[in-house]
Amino acid sequence: MFDNLSDKLDKALHVLKGHGQITEINVAETLKEVRRALLDADVNFKTAKEFTNRVKEKALGQNVLTTLQPGQLMVKIVKDELTSLMGGDAAGIDLSGNPSVILMSGLQGSGKTTFSGKLAGFLKNKKTKKPLLVACDVYRPAAIDQLHVVGEQLEVDVYSDRENNNPVAIAKAAIAHAKTNGHNVVIVDTAGRLAVDEQMMTEIANIHKAIKPNETLFVVDSMTGQDAVNTAKAFNDVLNFDGVILTKLDGDTRGGAALSIKSVVNKPIKFIGTGEKMDAMDVFYPSRMADRILG
Ligand code: GDP
Repeated sequence: MFDNLSDKLDKALHVLKGHGQITEINVAETLKEVRRALLDADVNFKTAKEFTNRVKEKALGQNVLTTLQPGQLMVKIVKDELTSLMGGDAAGIDLSGNPSVILMSGLQGSGKTTFSGKLAGFLKNKKTKKPLLVACDVYRPAAIDQLHVVGEQLEVDVYSDRENNNPVAIAKAAIAHAKTNGHNVVIVDTAGRLAVDEQMMTEIANIHKAIKPNETLFVVDSMTGQDAVNTAKAFNDVLNFDGVILTKLDGDTRGGAALSIKSVVNKPIKFIGTGEKMDAMDVFYPSRMADRILG
């Protein structure tokens, strides 16, 4: 369905993209289509309406119809507005704590463990950061193993306690461990499930309350369409998270999820995952995503 957003925006803008003559009616119709495409992708009504109003105002202000290439200018205006809808500039993360605690949340399979590793590697490369990865999934021994593999690969320390089945206690002990061992960033990887359920939400809420993270990040698979938006909302209701990590953007999605999630939970997307390898990540740049969405 998110490809639909791109397709629909494409279609709506196609008329204008060329060099051809455009008319006021043309512009109005296109904006209607753009709005419909946004609504279909779960961008909420108010946001979609404001979006098209702003595009219209700009188009009028810049006398789109009298310029040499009105189509291109319209596309540029839409792109600029998409960029600002997704947050304008790239958003950073709070690393002010000592240690700074980063809590990772999200469904099983979203790419949480992989991204925890990527983030640890990213921070380690900053030289001033000495990250500690923490395995808080007490249900799946394989998840603990996976984090250790990642840690070894990156030469980043991993804290786990296979004898302990209380994730809150593990997270707290890990922070104490970080303090005594000079780690200034603690990345807490948590247990996810295949779908949102109460037990998972209670557990992550308890961890969140106990460790008071500097940053709570929500990891979501960009390929999961509508579910991505619903999951984001469910986690945000419980955690009031600080930012979103959009993974698997190397797949064939064009990234409409970025727009919808931002519009529904109004939290910045901070990083993206672009592959299975540890360096396949990047800071999220709204303007690049706007390009991608527009194709
Ligand atoms: P978790 O259950 O949320 O911890 O998810 P994992 O980190 O184990 O990731 C689930 C699967 O998705 C693994 O096979 C990862 O290699 C893969 N994965 C994670 N992030 C990305 C990404 O950005 N791109 C691609 N193609 N695969 C990813």
